[in-house]
Amino acid sequence: MEVLEACNNVGQQIDAALSNFATTYKEGERKIEEATEILLSIKRDFEQKQEVNAKESQLGVSRVKECLSQLSKQHKRIQKSLSNIEKKIEANFQRGCGVSIFPPILPDSEKLLNQAICLHLLRNGFVESGVEFSRESGLERDDRIQEACKLTEIQGKLKENHLDAAIAWAQGHHQELLEKNSDLEFKLHQMKFIQILSQGSQWQNEAIAYAKNHFPLFSDRHKTEIAKVMGILPFIKRGVHNSPYGHFFDPVLWTEINQLFNRTAAEVLGFSVESPLSTSINVGVMALPVFEKFQKTMAEMKIQWDITSDTEMPIEIDTDGRNYHSVFSCPILKQQSSPSNPPMRLPCGHAMSLDAIKQTLAYYSGSFRGSAKCPYCKMLFEKSQVTELHF
Ligand SMILES: [Zn+2]
Repeated sequence: MEVLEACNNVGQQIDAALSNFATTYKEGERKIEEATEILLSIKRDFEQKQEVNAKESQLGVSRVKECLSQLSKQHKRIQKSLSNIEKKIEANFQRGCGVSIFPPILPDSEKLLNQAICLHLLRNGFVESGVEFSRESGLERDDRIQEACKLTEIQGKLKENHLDAAIAWAQGHHQELLEKNSDLEFKLHQMKFIQILSQGSQWQNEAIAYAKNHFPLFSDRHKTEIAKVMGILPFIKRGVHNSPYGHFFDPVLWTEINQLFNRTAAEVLGFSVESPLSTSINVGVMALPVFEKFQKTMAEMKIQWDITSDTEMPIEIDTDGRNYHSVFSCPILKQQSSPSNPPMRLPCGHAMSLDAIKQTLAYYSGSFRGSAKCPYCKMLFEKSQVTELHF
């Protein structure tokens, strides 16, 4: 309720300023027109008349001066109403988010923040602003930013149904896509084939040549899909739209291929699906009031709490059902992971804490010469095959 009242107070001041703007604008326009008219008439007098009445033109000049001084008064009135808004905000939101609550938690946080802002701009299509921001913040040579710039460019082209750049990208990441079991590369080629055919029956040979060039690489995995899409050919002269293959020409396929590309590329390049900046701000808005209340209570109780330590938050924050803080609990030792005891991945894919791995290796040290068995699937692994997991 308190916040609502504060918002209303500021809102009233904003309304007053806006109405002030509107009237000042109209009056100002009139004054400028008046002054221009006077000056033009003086100019005309000078051009047309042999003799100019000095008194008359002096009168005109003083009227222009009067107009200008009125304009300047109106300008001051606007400035005053703007500063009134500022005063109202200060008076009503004194205890707001201006309080610096926590020290920077991450080293190099400024760079991370700039990176997040830049990526946010790029992925939301504000390419020019993103590129300019990267230049100003000294991130133009940053690999992630360069990758994001390239990706944004490809996405822009794909949005306009130009497939070539996306296909080239997929071909460049052929192996990674295969490892991720992704259909993206094939789907893009399939789309290209359909696009060629959709131009009419005279393009049939070109489409067949494209299929011959690109489909064989996918003949094992996508045999059925290739057969289906090739089924369009016999209907090409009679009109494909009324054929059993009409669905291949549904515009919704373009939406799907765009979504598939965006999702897959983000996954391959390690970009999160949602913008990290939007996510941080969304959760920040929810968490900040709780943090502030918490900090106040701690100060009143004279308890010190260091957020930079790796301990868990002592309070629950409702983040609308989303979990922003990944926690790994070792399934073997039932302990929560920490920087000195991080989660590790075995070559079989099972995960456990470093302490559990050490204990397993120690347990098997007599039997397998440096190797041990995964406690779950009993697959043999060596110490060098174990990698740290990051969430
Ligand atoms: Zn295993």
